[in-house]
Amino acid sequence: MQYSPKEISEIINSHGEERDLYYNSVAPPIMQSSNFAFRSVRDLRESLKKEDEIPFYTRGVNPTSDILRKKMAALEHTEDSLIFASGSAAIAAAVMANLHMGEHVVCVNKPYSWTKKLLNDLLSRFGVEVTFVDGTRAENFSDAIRENTRMFYLESPNSWTFEMQDIETIVKIARKKGILTLIDNSYASPINQTPADYGADIILHSASKYISGHSDTVAGILCASEEMTRRIFESEFMTLGGIIAPFNSWLLLRGLRTLPIRMERIAGTTGKVTQFLEKHRKVKKVYYPFLQSHPQLTLAKKQMKMGGGLFTIELKTEDPVKIEEFCNSLRTFLLACSWGGHESLIYPAIVLMDSQNYHKGGLPLNMIRIYVGLEDPDYLINDLSQALDRI
Ligand SMILES: *Cc1c(COP(=O)(O)O)cnc(C)c1O
Repeated sequence: MQYSPKEISEIINSHGEERDLYYNSVAPPIMQSSNFAFRSVRDLRESLKKEDEIPFYTRGVNPTSDILRKKMAALEHTEDSLIFASGSAAIAAAVMANLHMGEHVVCVNKPYSWTKKLLNDLLSRFGVEVTFVDGTRAENFSDAIRENTRMFYLESPNSWTFEMQDIETIVKIARKKGILTLIDNSYASPINQTPADYGADIILHSASKYISGHSDTVAGILCASEEMTRRIFESEFMTLGGIIAPFNSWLLLRGLRTLPIRMERIAGTTGKVTQFLEKHRKVKKVYYPFLQSHPQLTLAKKQMKMGGGLFTIELKTEDPVKIEEFCNSLRTFLLACSWGGHESLIYPAIVLMDSQNYHKGGLPLNMIRIYVGLEDPDYLINDLSQALDRI
């Protein structure tokens, strides 16, 4: 169930906003206040009971962040959402709120690096067990189920090699066994993929990427049912307190206004850039879900409306000097981590490796992750072309 463009426009432009409360200002105010005052002790007492719904103290509900909370829940087809200081804070809260000592998680291979650290290093200290599986086969999830399995953790597609998981099938397997499914949806954004339609329980975002869209904010969001968000609010959200500042919520609201148009532009440009690279004689392989050559193209088309701007190439050369020369020769792509902004970026796998020991990182050393922003397609293709000519 995708929303129509009309419904998306309504969510982005007016849903959750109460302009008559703030002089009918078109842009919402930044409610830079830590606390909110009440007229009587009775009001104060009654409001404390609804700390997850009304502005009481900004570690709980803040009016600026609350607008974003309502819009994100609507975009992800869930009842509610919670906004955090980073994607990692949202992921940690969602995972920890649903696990006890001795329970087991089945997680897709190669999730976001700090998600892997959360499951492998941090939660193992508290007796949580984890199995990583190749998520391209749904059966691998059922095969990994144990008596103590409580959670499936998905990331579709992942952000280096873009393997996808069949969300519908995996959620069905989970539901039969009473297992929760969490999915990192940062790559697709709610414009291109809405996993709640298949019954996924918690949808996670690094809002530092597409929701912000301008490389100026670090933030995270989880979207879930009212019951689930209330439970997380009362435990990890309020206890660990990894909340967003009102100004950053305001920046995300501003980013959200242009999300659909940015995603459309990026999909168009990335299609052209990946097709150019796939035909180039110095490029061995392009990893992008919407290329004809991608083994999961049918699944990509089923679950996602369009591709994102992130993809990976493998150069033909494996010579680290030439790989570095290619990267250093690019003039318009910035050499930087992260993605989702207006600017195109490049991030080579050799950065993740010890220069004395290139193979340690687990990724082929000729892999380069590229992010396509909002620039003109030919401007980007010309730059890639001149840098490839140098090696
Ligand atoms: C960046 C990223 C995260 C972490 O988000 P932060 O906002 O940096 O904490 C999680 N998942 C994916 C897929 C990411 O790209």
